[in-house]
Amino acid sequence: MDDWQQLHRHSLTDPHQLAEQFGLKEADLVLVGARYPLRITTHILQLIANGGDPIAQQFIPSLRELTTDSALHSDPLNEEALSPVPHLVHRYPQRVLLLVAGSCFSYCRFCTRKRKVGCQDMVITFGDVIKGLEYIAQNSQVNEVILSGGDPLTMSDALLRDILERLRRIPHVEVVRIGSRAPVVLPERITPALCDLLSSYQPLYFLTHFNHPAELCPASIEACTSLVRAGVPVVNQTVLLRGINDDASILHELFHKLHCLCIRPYYLHQMDLTCGTSHFRTRLETGIAIMDKLRGPLSGLAVPTFIVDLPGGHGKIPVTPAYVHSLGKQAKLRAADGTLVDYPQD
Ligand SMILES: *Cc1c(COP(=O)(O)O)cnc(C)c1O
Ligand code: SF4
Repeated sequence: MDDWQQLHRHSLTDPHQLAEQFGLKEADLVLVGARYPLRITTHILQLIANGGDPIAQQFIPSLRELTTDSALHSDPLNEEALSPVPHLVHRYPQRVLLLVAGSCFSYCRFCTRKRKVGCQDMVITFGDVIKGLEYIAQNSQVNEVILSGGDPLTMSDALLRDILERLRRIPHVEVVRIGSRAPVVLPERITPALCDLLSSYQPLYFLTHFNHPAELCPASIEACTSLVRAGVPVVNQTVLLRGINDDASILHELFHKLHCLCIRPYYLHQMDLTCGTSHFRTRLETGIAIMDKLRGPLSGLAVPTFIVDLPGGHGKIPVTPAYVHSLGKQAKLRAADGTLVDYPQD
């Protein structure tokens, strides 16, 4: 067994231990654990121990996850209806999300796929993946495949290689993306062997998920740097989380540090309307005001797009501060500093 597999196996999953370690009520954790899975890697426990409240809130289960709210859905993006075969979401004609793993190294309490990640109905067999690959092979408009889950890197290198080989044999699949939070939650997973494997399947983008500068510890930095050195482009998505990173200076620091590591901040996500996550959700105004403060001071390469994945499966749209004041012959545009600037046309 590889080192990372040992570490994965030794993650904290027991409500009793979790309660003891964090001074919580075991009964509460048992209640939450009956509905949503519990798992935290030793790496994350260490980050929390080093004074990381923004980390603790992302991973330590809370009774608030059991709050019910009629505005929320277990499947807000309507993914199940957009699945022509199990564990494959086909929303945009050209791209599919292929869910290849049902579990994660550590469970983020705000996960959009909380309804099933780590649960019994997300046991994904190799046969399921093959059916997904057959669907992709039959749909020639699909030019990009996003491997997701769960965390695809919970799979062994051998299994991952097999899937990548099969994808490469489908002529119309031009680009592959792998979405994984391993660099944050189990940086030991990013081994030299994995870097070699991924670098031999170009063009392949590694999409990771840092939410707070405190996650950029030496081991995580090393994990990302080894991917970049191997020639694997690393891009990042961040979820905007109330009380954790809903602050322009925190996100400025995060995006700048990622930029310095050659990790391109890609998306800043508005939280989806997922059941059990309302305590993390910010208002749209918060994200818009943050984006307004980032544009200008932060390198353009380090500014992500703030997006909302629309309820009902209508897809992602950018939500931006209003820079266009008026259009027409004498258009007026608003500068980042607030000045209205004339822009004459024809
Ligand atoms: C987010 C998402 C994609 C990828 O969208 P991009 O804007 O290209 O990053 C593709 N399919 C589904 C179902 C998604 O949710
Ligand atoms: S790593 Fe991703 S899929 Fe897994 S729990 Fe976190 S947000 Fe959900």
